[in-house]
Amino acid sequence: MRRLLLLRGAELIVFAFLATIPLLVVNPYALGLLTLLAIYGILLIGLDVTVGYLGQVNLGHVAFLGLGAYTAGLAVTKLGLGMAPALLAAMAVGLLLGGLLALPALRLEGPQFALATLSFAALSTTALNELEGLTGGAQGLSLTRPPVFGHALTPPGFYWLCMALLAVVWMLMRNLLASQWGRAFEALRDSPIATDAMGVGTYRHKVAAFALGSALGGLAGGLYAFNFQYLQPQSYTYDLMIILLLGVVLGGRKSLWGAFVGASVIVLLPNLLSNRHLFQIFSGAGFAAALAAGIRGLMKKTVRPFQALAPAVAMGLLVVGGMLVENTEDWRKAIFALMLFSVVVGLPEGLMGFLSLFLAKLFRVPHAPLPEPSDIETILPPGSPDGAPLLVLEDLKRYFGGVKAVDGLSMTIRSGTIHGLIGPNGSGKSTVVNVISGLYTPTSGRTLLRGSVLPTGSLFRVAKSGVARTFQNLQLFGELTALENVMVALKGVYRSPLPLVLLGLARLEERRAQADALCLLGRIGLRDQALTKAKDLTYGAQRFLEIARALARKPDLLILDEPAAGLAHPDVVQLIEIIKRVHGRGITIILIEHHMDVVSELCDTVTVLDYGKVIAEGTPDEVKRHPKVVEAYLGQPPEPDPSSGAVPQPA
Ligand code: ADP
Ligand code: MG
Repeated sequence: MRRLLLLRGAELIVFAFLATIPLLVVNPYALGLLTLLAIYGILLIGLDVTVGYLGQVNLGHVAFLGLGAYTAGLAVTKLGLGMAPALLAAMAVGLLLGGLLALPALRLEGPQFALATLSFAALSTTALNELEGLTGGAQGLSLTRPPVFGHALTPPGFYWLCMALLAVVWMLMRNLLASQWGRAFEALRDSPIATDAMGVGTYRHKVAAFALGSALGGLAGGLYAFNFQYLQPQSYTYDLMIILLLGVVLGGRKSLWGAFVGASVIVLLPNLLSNRHLFQIFSGAGFAAALAAGIRGLMKKTVRPFQALAPAVAMGLLVVGGMLVENTEDWRKAIFALMLFSVVVGLPEGLMGFLSLFLAKLFRVPHAPLPEPSDIETILPPGSPDGAPLLVLEDLKRYFGGVKAVDGLSMTIRSGTIHGLIGPNGSGKSTVVNVISGLYTPTSGRTLLRGSVLPTGSLFRVAKSGVARTFQNLQLFGELTALENVMVALKGVYRSPLPLVLLGLARLEERRAQADALCLLGRIGLRDQALTKAKDLTYGAQRFLEIARALARKPDLLILDEPAAGLAHPDVVQLIEIIKRVHGRGITIILIEHHMDVVSELCDTVTVLDYGKVIAEGTPDEVKRHPKVVEAYLGQPPEPDPSSGAVPQPA
């Protein structure tokens, strides 16, 4: 209750206050600024979906503002549509073009993605400029705000409309981002490979997120058109894009409040630039804050000297520049650039990120209480393994250029067993797993799961067939909590259609997901750290968390790629316990392992690989004595006491 009051109370108060302003103040200029605040708020919430949640540098958002504005403008002037259909059309154009751009662009990473979005922005501005017959080109397009329900909207009326839309967008986005959708967005930012391997389609979520963000850009564009009632292609160029990015980064990524704060800054910027005194006060305050933060960081040794002082130097340039330069407006771009630089270096979490640390201390917002964990019997009902072949590899090959990493491997894994896969480093074990799980496409050969051919080359589709895996090099969702890591992967819980999720009516299944995930965390002894971010867990806990996350897939077959690598002895003991428990639920396991004692204790059958080929297969005791195995491990005899440690590795 207290938590809800604190969290929702602030939203209610701010929106209620904003709604009453036109009743108290009759200053058309201030009202204009506040209307812009609402419009930019919607625009930045949309941009934050790609920049904050997907972690992509999106330089095309300004194009969706322009396209939305022109769509609404043309819908009114050429088609004679009303305001509501015009706004819907603006949104639809954003959604559609955003989705179309995302299809090819989101296959790209980092700089290429940024360039693709930048080209799109250039293309659309040029098109708006050159399609003179339609848009009026550089002449611009004038329109009048259509009446709503037969009434012409007064400025306060239009302001209320914009604020109401911001409030609706805010609520819907809050619900969406707190759901499996939001988790999926963040998961794919942290590890696209693991997101696919957990049966959450990376690509479709990326496209959906980008289209959604662009639709909000379109909506903001529609409102922008009705606000200014005059459109020009030059308004939607690169300059504005920098300001929008500044808004998101300065406000704070991954935060609705951040978008709101960012929008306020953007709206106030022009005033700042046109008023010399205001600018000097602002830059002075910025310099002092940056200097204080830098010195504090230096004393606490949390940042390097350059990183600590660079923002202060940048802000210092603003102060000096403000005194020397006649007209700060001419230096707009340089000023934005300096501000953006200072924020990116000095305040990477943005104003809201900084404030929320502070506010959390002040108000001590409690975490929402977690539900009682579910019963393991309901999540992983014990299977009844029959020993029949579950996974069959037939003459599987995978070459990398000349390297025959897997070279004609045939192997049968029977249901209900723990099947060890061992071999010297580089013998192809991980490659086998990567081929089975769909990360790599096989060069030739095939894989059968329960007699049907397993899809190749798609982590997502293999995951859907009932195979779950962990990774030799951890692939956790670092920014998500342990609980959320497991929740992302949970199979069969999220059934509500998108509209219900948006309306916040999917809370029940969210509770259920939490309860299930808590139960699985309990199985690996991490229930107490459910709310710790994965990146802050100990190394051993991270390894276990990957197992719990894979279990959330409720798999028939679980593949563990060197789960004991790098673990200290007590953790290895716990790992053995965990694997036994998983096996106890009737789950078939492929275990890649170096520690021979672990293999001996757990495995029913062991296959030994060398140079991508099977050199021995049998019970752990049989393979240890096998002459070829002894030879593969550089002629050293296996250690006499099976509990004494790792199989010796080739140098
Ligand atoms: P293991 O897991 O048994 O240590 P790997 O399957 O990782 O062995 O590697 C087997 C061989 O394949 C090694 O020679 C390795 O260098 C090569 N290899 C593995 N993955 C790749 C890749 N993505 N590109 C090129 N070579 C690879
Ligand atoms: Mg390996």
